[in-house]
Amino acid sequence: MLRWGKWPQLCRRIPAEVFTVLQRLQSGGYQAYLVGGAPRDLLRGCPPQDWDIATDARPEEVKALFDRTIALGEKFGTVGVLIGDQQLEVTTFRQEGGYSDGRRPDWVEFTPDLVADLARRDFTINALAMDPVARRLVDPYRGVWALKRRLVKAVGDPAARFQEDPLRMLRFYRFQSTLGFRGAAATEQGIEAEAITKISGERIRDEMTKLLVGVEPARGLKGMARSGLLTTIIPEFKAIRTTDASLFTHLVATVQAIKPTAELRWAAFLHDLGKATTRQVGGDRIRYYGHEKVGQELAAGILERLRFSNAFRQKVLTLIRWHMFPADPWLTDAALRRLVGRVGPENMVDLLELRRADIVGTGGPTYRAQESLAQFSRRVQALLAGETVFTRKDLAVDGREVMAFLGLPPGPKVGAVLNDLFHWVTEDPARNRKDLILRYLQKWRADHLN
Ligand code: ATP
Ligand code: MG
Repeated sequence: MLRWGKWPQLCRRIPAEVFTVLQRLQSGGYQAYLVGGAPRDLLRGCPPQDWDIATDARPEEVKALFDRTIALGEKFGTVGVLIGDQQLEVTTFRQEGGYSDGRRPDWVEFTPDLVADLARRDFTINALAMDPVARRLVDPYRGVWALKRRLVKAVGDPAARFQEDPLRMLRFYRFQSTLGFRGAAATEQGIEAEAITKISGERIRDEMTKLLVGVEPARGLKGMARSGLLTTIIPEFKAIRTTDASLFTHLVATVQAIKPTAELRWAAFLHDLGKATTRQVGGDRIRYYGHEKVGQELAAGILERLRFSNAFRQKVLTLIRWHMFPADPWLTDAALRRLVGRVGPENMVDLLELRRADIVGTGGPTYRAQESLAQFSRRVQALLAGETVFTRKDLAVDGREVMAFLGLPPGPKVGAVLNDLFHWVTEDPARNRKDLILRYLQKWRADHLN
């Protein structure tokens, strides 16, 4: 199963606190194992995200063994154990009844049987239990076999397991992306995409985001499209598939190419969604006038349905709205400053990254395009490092001062003057000094106000 010689190497990756908790449970006469992502990731040689421990001790019994614990859904058997600077989750073995509503199990009950606990888990690679103290692996569903073949395979009958909890369909593709594994064909056949509509936007959001930031998002996204999950969750993708199949390929390639932050991956995936309805064939070219604006609107609806935070939505929508920005060498400094003002200096680095990935995702000869983008990036960096006039708020005078100086009442005229000032200053940021601006306004008054 697992060669004895491998254990020392594997145990070295396990924090001392985890050993302490396992040993204390075992000395108390209970069973205690690492379960879930930890044994899976240890066996494939990657650092685990978190350390979940399963035991036959009841929550009260777990709490009695440790000084510092916090309740984390005790009804479901989970106690948080605080030890050193770690927080570990200790969960009592449990088994679940049917899911008649497809949302939550009809009943959850504790069991002394580890194998029953493993049976309720989603995929065989997640249904392993490891006792690093006794150096023992419990693998009733052949999870190690699947790990070696890099395969995501349901525990038990796929269709039944997906019906119980439809979120597992999405997790099936999520793990393919985060682990870079293939999905078992028989498991994929159990998918009934329509059932995903029972799942809340928040839960879909979290799994899809994990899928997007994974190492193989292309694999997960193509699988989602193939099974119908993608268009069930995001019907906006239906139009793309019929208009232009290569557009979907482009979106997937852009996601795969961009840095794996949640905002960038979502922006990359949705950035050309507006192309389906703006497509125009003129002569020998296909054009998509205004697709970035239509795309922004579509993305706004999607991100809202999936309950993303305001800040997250704003960021992604800004990137989509401006992804067609001109990165030409002949763009004047003043125009560049105005671009930075519209996009926001804090979004420029991400916008450039989106453009880079967009070019990679387009394929074809990209060397020159990348080279000129790199040059443009250096200009933007220099601008961001040295100058501060990107919006009207950055001007050395404000509306109140303009009104006082020109003797204007509040109103649209003040805005027009500030706009004019902003353009004048962005021509040459050295002009952003109060004395120079007032001198300019003096002249402006002579020209306009008599
Ligand atoms: P990650 O490293 O991304 O956290 P993970 O395997 O730990 O991966 P979690 O979502 O943290 O994934 O879940 C922990 C474990 O709980 C899983 O490995 C699996 O055994 C079980 N599990 C989680 N969600 C489900 C589900 N919907 N159905 C069945 N089992 C589940
Ligand atoms: Mg986990």
